[in-house]
Amino acid sequence: MSAKILEGKPIADKIKEEVKTGVEELKSKGVSITLAAVQVGEDPASRAYIRSQRRRCEEVGINYKLHQLPETTSPDELREFIERLNRDEAVTGIILQMPLPKQINPNEAFCWIDELKDVEGVSPASIGRIAFDMPRLVPPTAMAAITLLESTGEEISGKEAVVIGRSTIVGKPAALLLLQRKLSATVTVCHTGTFKRGKIEEHVGRAEILVVAAGRAELIKGEWIRPGAIVIDVGMNRVGKKFVGDVEFETAKERAAYITPVPGGVGPVTTSILMRNVLEAARWQMELA
Ligand code: NAD
Repeated sequence: MSAKILEGKPIADKIKEEVKTGVEELKSKGVSITLAAVQVGEDPASRAYIRSQRRRCEEVGINYKLHQLPETTSPDELREFIERLNRDEAVTGIILQMPLPKQINPNEAFCWIDELKDVEGVSPASIGRIAFDMPRLVPPTAMAAITLLESTGEEISGKEAVVIGRSTIVGKPAALLLLQRKLSATVTVCHTGTFKRGKIEEHVGRAEILVVAAGRAELIKGEWIRPGAIVIDVGMNRVGKKFVGDVEFETAKERAAYITPVPGGVGPVTTSILMRNVLEAARWQMELA
């Protein structure tokens, strides 16, 4: 049996159309939506990401404004800058580009973003809301993983879900989303500690739902996959000129019931969900105005 491939593009396109309509509706009420991106220093790797963010915003009618701060910006200066954006009524969403220079701790910086404008869902309040079963702005990558999972239409409640990776933007929020009453999966989270004890294979072998976000090319061997599993591969690893996931795709697809391709699975859905978060943030601010 070969797995059904969960392509991201049709889902991403549908979300994009909904966002476009939503943005037009707000515009007709005189509300304009502006995403402020803050980049500290000039990491060449984030240049392509910023270009693509701008293009995605333009496609759906969202204004995009890039603020470039010098590499030498101190934590206090960045904090003041973000707080100014928090207060600026013309700004409806804020993105802090990674990586940050070494003098700034990213987790500390995420705390400075007002949850109403936190379109990447990285502030403690945004993450805490998922734990409270009242999510609002959820990290787009984690939400994309769950959206692809739900697109299978399969029962999730009570199933063995294994998440590999515990980062703030993917692994932890994905695990919290799976735990929500709405989905009610039985969740195990694996990380480097699990790897060091040689236990990854054992956990993967139990997983009816497997979400992998470790950032290690083909870490998960196809032969470990439980037959009939749903495999969501978040990994994006450059190997030579190609991108590969964290799961060995060719062998895994012979055992899984569903699997996301890399590229073309989680990636495109993530971008559309980011745009949806920008719209949602603007709506939330309107509700409270
Ligand atoms: P990260 O490096 O912040 O976190 C990786 C996590 O995986 C860590 O919690 C670590 O404990 C765990 N880990 C690392 N090696 C491991 C191992 N050998 N065994 C078990 N656990 C291990 O990365 P991230 O930001 O969470 O991203 C994860 C992957 O997802 C990366 O490949 C990244 O490129 C990709 N990503 C994709 C998108 C997208 O839109 N498709 C968006 C964000 C991230």
